[in-house]
Amino acid sequence: MRSDSPRHQGQRLQLVEQLRERGIVDERVLEAIGQVPRHLFLDSSFEQYAYRDAAFPIRAQQTISQPYTVAFQTESLHVASGAKILEIGTGSGYQAAVLAAMGYKVYTIERQKELFDFSKGLLQELGYRVTQKFGDGYKGMPAFAPFDGILVTAAAPSLPQELLEQLRPEGRLIVPVGDVESEQSMHAVWMDATGARHEDVLGQFRFVPMLKDVDAGR
Ligand code: SAH
Repeated sequence: MRSDSPRHQGQRLQLVEQLRERGIVDERVLEAIGQVPRHLFLDSSFEQYAYRDAAFPIRAQQTISQPYTVAFQTESLHVASGAKILEIGTGSGYQAAVLAAMGYKVYTIERQKELFDFSKGLLQELGYRVTQKFGDGYKGMPAFAPFDGILVTAAAPSLPQELLEQLRPEGRLIVPVGDVESEQSMHAVWMDATGARHEDVLGQFRFVPMLKDVDAGR
């Protein structure tokens, strides 16, 4: 088994300082990024780059999000510790681990069987308590709704309506929406207690596409 080391810990603290310089202000997010061993979520061939602020390829032609993006999406949730969060697109499991390290109750869905299996094994091994589902994230997890926040880590061609319906009033959906071939705008969408809808655009990002149905692999 690969493990953590003082060298990795030192690199993580440097990454945290870079994220602070780039404008991440939520200390709880920075603390979690300072704790989660990102190098274990990457293929071993990329391990030496794990604490660069960059995205890298993972299995099934997907990517692990850039730490800045993970931090930005997480701090955009605006939720208190202990909140119930749904993530769409488990991928490597890194974002789910950051959320769990912050003390959230984490639910996450992945449509690629290979990544579902990999992330499940790793999150368990590292002791992060996360409820994982192999399925189509467009459908959410109605059995566990409502959520205090929902975070989508793949590019949606349009706003995923079913997910909005699984939010508590004032709970925010953070989702990159737009052309999957180029950049997407990060949207924060929420309903207030009267049912009125609110929406902010937070910035431009690049994600792999949010696809329909599951991929069970070969
Ligand atoms: N949060 C991940 C980022 C993974 S990239 C991490 O920290 O590593 C986005 C992931 O979304 C990919 O693994 C992709 O397979 C998954 N995905 C795409 N469409 C999906 C859908 N409809 N339901 C669930 N997962 C989906």
